[in-house]
Amino acid sequence: MAPLKGAPGPDPATDQGEDYYDKLGVAKFINAAGTYTILTASTMPPPVQAAVARAAKHPVRLIDLQTKAGEYLAKRLHCEAAMVTAGAASALTLGTAACMTVANPSARHEIPTGVAGFNNEVIVQKAHRYDYDHALRNCGIRFVEVETMEDYEAAFNDRTVMAHFFNAAEQGRIGREDWIRVAHKHKVPCFNDAAADVPPISNLWNYTQMGFDLVTFSGGKGIRGPQNAGLLLGKKNLIAAAAANNNPFDDCIGRGMKVAKEQIVGMVAAVDWFLSQSDDTMQKEFQRRAERIAAHLNDIPTLESRIVVPPVANQVPHLLIRYDRLRVKISPLEVAEQLRQGTPAIELNPATGRTEASAGLPSDANTVVVGVWMLEPGEDAIVARRLREVLAKAT
Ligand SMILES: *Cc1c(COP(=O)(O)O)cnc(C)c1O
Repeated sequence: MAPLKGAPGPDPATDQGEDYYDKLGVAKFINAAGTYTILTASTMPPPVQAAVARAAKHPVRLIDLQTKAGEYLAKRLHCEAAMVTAGAASALTLGTAACMTVANPSARHEIPTGVAGFNNEVIVQKAHRYDYDHALRNCGIRFVEVETMEDYEAAFNDRTVMAHFFNAAEQGRIGREDWIRVAHKHKVPCFNDAAADVPPISNLWNYTQMGFDLVTFSGGKGIRGPQNAGLLLGKKNLIAAAAANNNPFDDCIGRGMKVAKEQIVGMVAAVDWFLSQSDDTMQKEFQRRAERIAAHLNDIPTLESRIVVPPVANQVPHLLIRYDRLRVKISPLEVAEQLRQGTPAIELNPATGRTEASAGLPSDANTVVVGVWMLEPGEDAIVARRLREVLAKAT
């Protein structure tokens, strides 16, 4: 068949694609931070990139792809049903919308501004309130905060639609099993936000099997799928209700949360890739990287390093470095800045030099944190060299 006039033929020189980061003047960097949204989280492994590129070549029917991807994921992740969402934040919104619409299907046309007549209370532990609350509030819900078991039992009423749990919360008196048991006694579905909580790989089914009715994982963090994709896993009726609140339908909260065919395929391919990995191999590799960097720094005077695995989110080895500031005269924040400005540019973990927002990492003003799990092969040597240069210069 003759090509359409003006249609580009194959050009081996540009088949790789133009480097638009260079063209736009956007700086690339070595990721010694981790899966941080603001740093574009992760990169997709080569087989996932290839699946995305291949999916771009053909149109398909969007609902068909959404449905089949969900069925495939449910099977692979041992849950009743699944859907690909536009990230975990979008899964929080769609899952909440689902809980509001199971009893009132018409609510999906009213969320978020016309919900006055609908049940809209979501129970949450005070210590589980977080910035992602906004993803639930998008549905016009009202949070009911509890602290003790007595509060929790007493919080249920006719307007309760959901009980929300933040899996990596560092505080909160009520554990997962109790949270589920009491909610189910009141016939209310439970949602667990486990967005950043793989590895271990088995967490992808641990929480649904524990009894949570909805669970979300971010697609672009540890699973290393597209950053604008995520997983909503759970009960069949709730996933169906979430899909009814999603695009391609126009009159619903999820219309602006579209995941393109390339990223739906990318999410499924990333799950396949992630399930083909082993926790043990991954942890050993991350541990080795951290040890190699530490070994390269061991003659910096007063420097002490240790390797820490956070308890829930980002549960992988991180390297923490401390030194006597009287002997090595540079602050961790200044180390981070010099690595950021250097060549090649390196981003250290944002808990460097900070106590707050360190997500389970015991950091402080005198600690440098190196997140090694998103490094590409060989980059640990570059990070080690740059850290050594910057620290040695300050002695
Ligand atoms: C990252 C994160 C999200 C949002 O995930 P996206 O996939 O970026 O939408 C939600 N909840 C928690 C706890 C997270 O860590």
